[in-house]
Amino acid sequence: MLKFKQFFLSSLIDFCFPNFCVFCGIKTFNHFPVCNPCSTKIKPQSKLITENPNGFISKTWIPFEFTEEVSTLIHLLKYSEVTSVPKFFITFFPEELVSLLKNEDFDVLLPVPLHAVKQRERSYNQSELIADQLSHLINVKIATKILKRKRYTETQTKLDKKQREQNVKNVFEVSDKTLSLNKILLVDDVCTTGSTTNECAKTLLETKICKEVQLFALAKPKN
Ligand SMILES: [Zn+2]
Repeated sequence: MLKFKQFFLSSLIDFCFPNFCVFCGIKTFNHFPVCNPCSTKIKPQSKLITENPNGFISKTWIPFEFTEEVSTLIHLLKYSEVTSVPKFFITFFPEELVSLLKNEDFDVLLPVPLHAVKQRERSYNQSELIADQLSHLINVKIATKILKRKRYTETQTKLDKKQREQNVKNVFEVSDKTLSLNKILLVDDVCTTGSTTNECAKTLLETKICKEVQLFALAKPKN
């Protein structure tokens, strides 16, 4: 009965507030930004994990190929308030990814923080929306207060790797240095050069509030 009520409510919301596919314009269901035929263009990566045991980030999880469609959806999530994108993406997470992430036994998921001013401008943090979906899927809580940006940085899009590293140097701080955690999973939208997430991990490890940091990002652009 409950399932029927949920279905009825969901159908009613779809009817009153229809969503349209961002690629072809036809009506979509489940409040998703992409229709079923266009969804077939979203492909999980064959190599889900990259290990780097000696780096600040010991393991990186990237579920999707950085195709034009994936790139468009992430751009819409970041800059056009299409906040249903993470909920859409998780329906394509391979089973293997979910069970491997569960086995890691993370203490917390930590979305890469935006500066307070940028978060106010955007009204949400896209990485937090991704972490929120992941949190339900692997039963790990989100920690949004552990790390904060102490300096406002300009957008990194036009900077090269070296400039990006310089731009985010010492930009983060840990708010509670008495924490004692084992493993943290950083969550970001895309992993471009990795400068920002590397700086996050460096700050977390240097303050010794955890023993290991891993990274989850939806996709990684090809260099
Ligand atoms: Zn479509």
